[in-house]
Amino acid sequence: MRLEISGVCHRYDQVEALRDINLTIEPGEIVALIGPSGCGKSTLLSIIGGLLKPSEGKISASGAVPDGCLNPLTYVFQDFALLPWRTVAGNISLVLEDHKLSKAERAARIDEVLEQTGLADFRNAFPKQLSGGMKQRVGIARALAVRPAVLLMDEPLSALDAQTRILLLDEFSALFARTGMTAVYVTHNLNEAVRLAHRVVALRRRPGTIKEIHTIDVPID
Ligand code: ADP
Ligand code: ADP
Repeated sequence: MRLEISGVCHRYDQVEALRDINLTIEPGEIVALIGPSGCGKSTLLSIIGGLLKPSEGKISASGAVPDGCLNPLTYVFQDFALLPWRTVAGNISLVLEDHKLSKAERAARIDEVLEQTGLADFRNAFPKQLSGGMKQRVGIARALAVRPAVLLMDEPLSALDAQTRILLLDEFSALFARTGMTAVYVTHNLNEAVRLAHRVVALRRRPGTIKEIHTIDVPID
């Protein structure tokens, strides 16, 4: 799926958060969105994900979505947002239940994403039994279960320690390469951005005008 962000501006009452953002994200591309706190990264991600309507401008999405896609643009949250009373499999199942998938189809998808994220042995564990890194693997697995066209990640590793961050970053990298996933990855960490992304896009603090600072050419199959 190709995303075209054109002339996007956003104001919250007194604050101008984004001004004239123009950005195209190609299918299979991993784009890191960086910039200091308050520069509008989360606002832009929310607008891309359709959670927030921009004051001006538009987002258009075109092209194919994966077979069985339940939600083309899917979020992964920084704080994992897992239900403590549900197992790993139960947390992944939740979103599939919302979409009224049959029990058999849910089970098949849960198996698939547990395998993809290395969680097969943890399907019956509860969140409190898991480390932060494992919890975020569940967050990713839950997002993948809806077979999104584009994964939207807002600082998904910032709650984790440095060692776990590097481990997960390399796992994400391999997973994205394997699945041909398109992703927009918000971080304030330039090292993380460069390690993961095909393209790094930086936002200025004010007034949030986009500024592309770094492009890594990784061929997309
Ligand atoms: P970042 O993700 O880069 O830290 P945000 O998108 O969260 O930036 O915020 C951009 C600007 O908009 C900041 O000045 C922030 O204070 C402001 N802002 C964010 N959300 C709201 C809101 N709900 N109401 C008012 N101002 C907000
Ligand atoms: P509880 O904590 O109430 O025992 P779970 O969190 O284990 O429940 O599971 C909640 C829901 O998640 C179940 O009703 C089921 O639909 C789904 N689920 C749980 N485990 C699996 C699994 N291994 N395969 C498919 N669906 C599952």
